[in-house]
Amino acid sequence: MSEAIKTDVLIIGAGPCGLFAVFELGLLDIKAHLVDILDKIGGQCAELYPEKPIYDIPGIPFVTGHGLTEALLAQIKPFNPTFHLNEMVEKIEKIGDPGFRVTTDAGQVFECKVVVVSAGGGSFQPKRPPVPGIEAYEGTSVYYSVRRMEQFRDKNLLIVGGGDSALDWTLNLQPIARRVTLLHRRDDFRAAPHSVEQMRALVSAGKMDLKIGQVTGLEGEGGMLTGATVKGNDNAIARVSCDNLLPFFGLTMKLGPVANWGLSLQNNLVPVETSAFETSVPGIFAIGDINTYPGKLKLILCGFHEGALMAQKAYRYVYPDKRLVFQYTTSSSSLQKKLGVH
Ligand code: FAD
Repeated sequence: MSEAIKTDVLIIGAGPCGLFAVFELGLLDIKAHLVDILDKIGGQCAELYPEKPIYDIPGIPFVTGHGLTEALLAQIKPFNPTFHLNEMVEKIEKIGDPGFRVTTDAGQVFECKVVVVSAGGGSFQPKRPPVPGIEAYEGTSVYYSVRRMEQFRDKNLLIVGGGDSALDWTLNLQPIARRVTLLHRRDDFRAAPHSVEQMRALVSAGKMDLKIGQVTGLEGEGGMLTGATVKGNDNAIARVSCDNLLPFFGLTMKLGPVANWGLSLQNNLVPVETSAFETSVPGIFAIGDINTYPGKLKLILCGFHEGALMAQKAYRYVYPDKRLVFQYTTSSSSLQKKLGVH
């Protein structure tokens, strides 16, 4: 377990609402770290619809999911937030009044005054392929994401899928793995055409293998994989020898550990009061899609508003002895200094 990182606020979820919360907190001199289970910033906007247009962000007639994420990142740059990607917050313990110790599945510990849960629909979790007994190999031979490429050096890898993740990891791991086999159920890929071309070039050069079919069974002992049974589209059964299986079948949203944080829940959402969007636990706030209150709309603009009000109350926890003066960014030279525009 690594040394605890001390911060004013720990934000769980780097979707649009978590990102804008950094801005509102930053204007009030409150520092934030963000944790997200995804390997990228932007939540649903980045994972589910990066290229789709959004038409209802106030003052921005049209922006894509990716474009909004980039714009929010530019807006919060002056506050220099730290992102911890590929990590899932598992545990929140109360250590003060308020004060919290937050632990991720990677063993990272944070100590903070305030927690902001902006976890959207919950954590994005990998879809498990329907292979009997696969659970027995998860975390030892079967991995749904790549946290450390080195782990796969000199290994015999079977990568399954036809999207960008499967193709990107095929191309990234091929140079360091002993052998890579890419398996997809048809000879047609959803991934970026350029990646598909690169993969086909490697296959033609004999540097990796491409198979068409589906995994139907796994072989191995004590969680250590030795091979997989693959059924081809012609129903022929073949054995592919491998030490590691990396299935990339997309992600699904599950509430995940939010349910274990001692917060009241209502239909898998976190009820909040509407003056500051604080939960049943003082010092823990919930903003964006994860919260519920009378009249709630799951819209990005609502999450932005919730972040602004949350920050005002968070200030009282972070600076209990200071008085908060309301200021406009247009006219306050002190806010402009913080934004680096004065
Ligand atoms: P999210 O964007 O869901 O981000 C939450 C993040 O928290 C995720 O990245 C997740 O991985 C992370 N997380 C969850 N649990 C944990 C944990 N335990 N540890 C670490 N990380 C965790 N809204 C609009 O306003 N206008 C639109 O036009 C619009 N179009 C949409 C189109 C589509 C196809 C979809 C799917 C949604 C659309 N929405 C739209 C809804 C909008 O995307 C959501 O309201 C918005 O993303 C919510 O933001 P958020 O920050 O609350 O959560």
